[in-house]
Amino acid sequence: MAIKVCKFGGTSMSDSKAISRVSEIIKAEKDRRYIVLSAPGKRNKEDFKITDKLYECYNTKCKCGTCAEPFKFIRERYQEIVDALKVKIDLKSYLDVIQKEIDESTAPDYAASRGEYLSALIMAKYLDYEFVDAAEIIRFKEDGSFDDVLTNELASARLSGVAYAVIPGFYGTLPNGVVKTFSRGGSDVSGSIVARAVSADLYENWTDVSGFMTADPRIIDNPKIIKKVSYQELRELSYMGASVLHPDAIFPVRLSGIPINIKNTFSPEDKGTMIVAHSPAHKADELVTGIAGKKDFSVILVEKSMMNSELGFARRIMSVLEEFGISFEHMPSGVDTLSVVLATSYLVGREDKIVARIIEAVSPDSIVVHHGLALIATVGHGMNAKVGTASRIFTALAKANVNVRMIDQGSSEKNIIVGVQSVDYEATIKAIYNEFFGEN
Ligand code: ADP
Ligand code: ASP
Ligand code: MG
Repeated sequence: MAIKVCKFGGTSMSDSKAISRVSEIIKAEKDRRYIVLSAPGKRNKEDFKITDKLYECYNTKCKCGTCAEPFKFIRERYQEIVDALKVKIDLKSYLDVIQKEIDESTAPDYAASRGEYLSALIMAKYLDYEFVDAAEIIRFKEDGSFDDVLTNELASARLSGVAYAVIPGFYGTLPNGVVKTFSRGGSDVSGSIVARAVSADLYENWTDVSGFMTADPRIIDNPKIIKKVSYQELRELSYMGASVLHPDAIFPVRLSGIPINIKNTFSPEDKGTMIVAHSPAHKADELVTGIAGKKDFSVILVEKSMMNSELGFARRIMSVLEEFGISFEHMPSGVDTLSVVLATSYLVGREDKIVARIIEAVSPDSIVVHHGLALIATVGHGMNAKVGTASRIFTALAKANVNVRMIDQGSSEKNIIVGVQSVDYEATIKAIYNEFFGEN
């Protein structure tokens, strides 16, 4: 029998109605044996995500000593699910323990993880599958980085004797047993870890759209669904903001070549997107696979005459960044200028200190910091076979009156990144989309 690992995201788990759809999907195929779940997401635009509320619970307990007030919302949401689905579980006892432990916790991770914990506990009972806690099988190292070797050993051993299991996504434990989460959207990573551990034939990632689209559907109306895409292209797109799949979800399955199928819980018959090891052959007119972008970047622009002949100039700037724990995105340079593009969040509350340290390290002629930059990536394996892709992007942006502040084309033409002002973010995506996918 084939083995499928299925991960269901927040919208798929948002209430009892959605959850009964999920259970129908699981029961429709006997191969759907290992189920990884997210916490309930939003039921409508005005609603909140359980995970966000749990972070609020932690913050409230830090301020007021107890999370009792916001925790009421958590109680209500799960009560609706358990009541409507008639799941036999002593929910109140679980919730009481969780509330108490959040009040005693010293980091937000435990609180944040309880959304997926409860989702999986309830679903395991509902489906009559075994509940396997992620705390047992997903491990982080002491420094907080993910321990892939130990995790794969533990997860393979634990799941090998279990035919059908439900596992909470998003978290694991540190060597001292304390809960730690992945970054937001991390249940996608948990699903991939489980798929590798059980040597799955397929990792189905069930969400609320019918596949990976050529651009963010919140910006472009009805973008095309990408039928098939390589791990590499997918990683570039998701890292650059196509939030449908966590960018790190590629790594565990890539090691054993397990394909990922993005599927829509609310339209299960749609084929979705297949993410595979090798890029499918592109037709001549399929240069670009997709476009993605993200906001909230800054540029530190350093100028110094003759910097090119000064040995170790870039290294000294990089060691300042390292000192502050900053990993930067790009470092475009000119003859006498070097700029560092980094997430603005790294600068908050310490920009002056970082600038002062760079001045101390390289004595520049000038140093300025610009905020409000957005980065947009145009990705495609077909692009390197055809000259002129970059010029099509820049012509389209010039026509749309967008001022390009930064360009990074890397060493191959598989990914061209432009930096623009955040106000031009949507216009940039639209202009590039129309150039490559528009009906002209
Ligand atoms: P889940 O809760 O199932 O993990 P997410 O909200 O994390 O779902 O991801 C799905 C959402 O990603 C979609 O609803 C869509 O708004 C957004 N999205 C952004 N870029 C893309 C893209 N290129 N293709 C499809 N969806 C995208
Ligand atoms: N619930 C977590 C989040 O909202 C993880 C996930 O859904 O993948 O980020
Ligand atoms: Mg997600």
